Amino acid sequence: MKPIYLDYGATSPVRPDALEAMLPFFSQAYGNSGSIHDFGQQSREAIETARKQVAQAIGASTAREIIFTSSGTESNNLALIGAARKRKAFGNHIVTSSVEHPSVLEACRFLEREGFEVTYVPVDSNGLVKLDQLKQALTDRTILVSVMAANNEVGTLQPIREIGLLLKDSPILFHTDAVQYFGKVPFSVIELGVDLLSLGSHKVYGPKGAGALFIKKGVRIEPLLHGGGQERGMRASTLNTPAIVGFGAACQLISQEVADEQARLTALRDHCWRRIQSEIGDVDLNGHPSDRLPNNLNLSFHGVEGQAILLELNRKQIYVSSGSACSAGKHAASHVLLAMGKSLDTAFQSLRITFGKDTTLELIDRFVDELKEVMHYLRSLSPQEH
Ligand SMILES: *Cc1c(COP(=O)(O)O)cnc(C)c1O
Repeated sequence: MKPIYLDYGATSPVRPDALEAMLPFFSQAYGNSGSIHDFGQQSREAIETARKQVAQAIGASTAREIIFTSSGTESNNLALIGAARKRKAFGNHIVTSSVEHPSVLEACRFLEREGFEVTYVPVDSNGLVKLDQLKQALTDRTILVSVMAANNEVGTLQPIREIGLLLKDSPILFHTDAVQYFGKVPFSVIELGVDLLSLGSHKVYGPKGAGALFIKKGVRIEPLLHGGGQERGMRASTLNTPAIVGFGAACQLISQEVADEQARLTALRDHCWRRIQSEIGDVDLNGHPSDRLPNNLNLSFHGVEGQAILLELNRKQIYVSSGSACSAGKHAASHVLLAMGKSLDTAFQSLRITFGKDTTLELIDRFVDELKEVMHYLRSLSPQEH
């Protein structure tokens, strides 16, 4: 039997067209995009094409609003630390949510050590940021608000447009981590009303090693890397031409498919959830029931640890996630589920199933059949617990 990959929230395969676009830039057209000669300019042109592809995919007004980075993590660090340091003279207060990705939360902790104050706005039981509390948190010392567009663990979509409107005529910069959101739901940076937006390549069928930060025209932030002045001084170091070219190609393709994929994945997800509820049972859906990513199911099976299910599925070459990939290694309860007010038990029971481009109805049905067997087995070990 072929393995079943249901962990697209962790990463995705490089799509063939993106891989093909990248290949010439490893050992044939390997010039440094900063070199003045034609050989370097060939790389430069490929990078500028990719910049346009990324800009177009998110509805940026010009390609100049895109800075290439190495990852979603770097984009988040650059956005938060870069914005905070640049605006220090106007205040030292930052507002974010309690369910952000570690690359935002840890950047905030770092900024706290630098003397900034951070308010972590709570979420409701569906993982939605409490807007009234966000509003109340704003002071005349607030310089930056960062709220993720879609949660990587439970899939909840945040009210980014509302927050964008709230901050529209204020000098407060608004950043969103759209690494998990991009490619799942159509959007443009203009309708979201953001100043800064983070993207990653490997979640959208591009290669690992590339990411981007959208910086709205006129917005200034401090760079993290200092050196040869690449990326208009915002991110020094020789650009990773193959990865950027692959990322650009992946962005163009996914933005053409996103509306169709959104509908297809939503139908698959709902089919999967209905079957699990009716054929396995004793299970809760974590995250918002409807305002959620089309490809995400985060489930807590009563009385059984998510890790145990993951390992049993792994024996059948079915790959899912318990909690998030970033906290799974540590076997710590998910900070997201705890912030949503879930019990430690529920948090440890959680299993994240994320679908993607190659997920079909047939694969989902095979998955549910196998999951039924696994759950039957695991529950037979501890029948008293549920
Ligand atoms: C994956 C992810 C990141 C980190 O991106 P990398 O490219 O893996 O560093 C940040 N935020 C969210 C929401 C993510 O899902």
